Amino acid sequence: MSARVLFIGAGPGAADLITLRGVRGLAQAEVVLFDALTDPALREFAPHARWIHVGKRGFADSTGQATINALLVKYANEGAFVVRLKGGDPSIFGRLEEELEALAAAGIACEVVPGVTAALAAAAASQRPLTRRGGGRSVSFTTAMTKSGALHTSGSADTEVFYMAGKQLAALSRRLIEMHWPSDTPVSVVSRAGWPDQLHSDHNIATLPRAAMLHAGRPTIVTVGAGARALTEVNALSPTDACASRVETL
Ligand code: SAH
Repeated sequence: MSARVLFIGAGPGAADLITLRGVRGLAQAEVVLFDALTDPALREFAPHARWIHVGKRGFADSTGQATINALLVKYANEGAFVVRLKGGDPSIFGRLEEELEALAAAGIACEVVPGVTAALAAAAASQRPLTRRGGGRSVSFTTAMTKSGALHTSGSADTEVFYMAGKQLAALSRRLIEMHWPSDTPVSVVSRAGWPDQLHSDHNIATLPRAAMLHAGRPTIVTVGAGARALTEVNALSPTDACASRVETL
């Protein structure tokens, strides 16, 4: 198959968190359709391509998504090699299925290059591994923004990671308590993970609403449960341990 459209995960923001395969794909691009959250510095990897901003925040209405689908088909049919650059990983809350379906319906071959999703960038930023030996065997990725406005939680994962939760931390805190999470369960909040100005704060479910001011207006990941716990609590590292003191200074 020779792909005419390449979906590339740009990573969580900072240009150097894209994969090498993604950079190589961008270098071939004639047209790049890109989202709001991707770093302008990525343009250096495809300086001669035509860059078209199709970014959106929250819910695109069906027209917005239909326009993106139509643009993908149009440029590919014109013979251009098209890169569809998406924030994080294209397969996580990226509306990838609609775009894949539109291309399949038009008989256009495509490929997907994975990217670093925001949950993983947040785990790296906070040095809170998402899985833990013993007590953290499962992780769920959940969007806090649904069409109906209802907040869902997995209810079964040891660690729950919420995307798009920044504007509704109080509602999320209430919902988690309704779902029988103990109110003192650790919650780690990271905004702009992977950028030089990334911010990390620690809370529990009851105090989570207090994170709202600190992270206001920034893309935010909320991690709840086993994967949010500070390492010192999990592994009982001595306070003099070099790694433990680095975590304390975050
Ligand atoms: N496909 C993307 C997610 C798109 S949904 C991915 O795989 O990461 C957009 C949501 O992702 C934002 O509302 C926020 O919750 C999260 N997000 C994206 N970039 C982020 C970053 N650098 N730091 C923290 N959260 C981020």
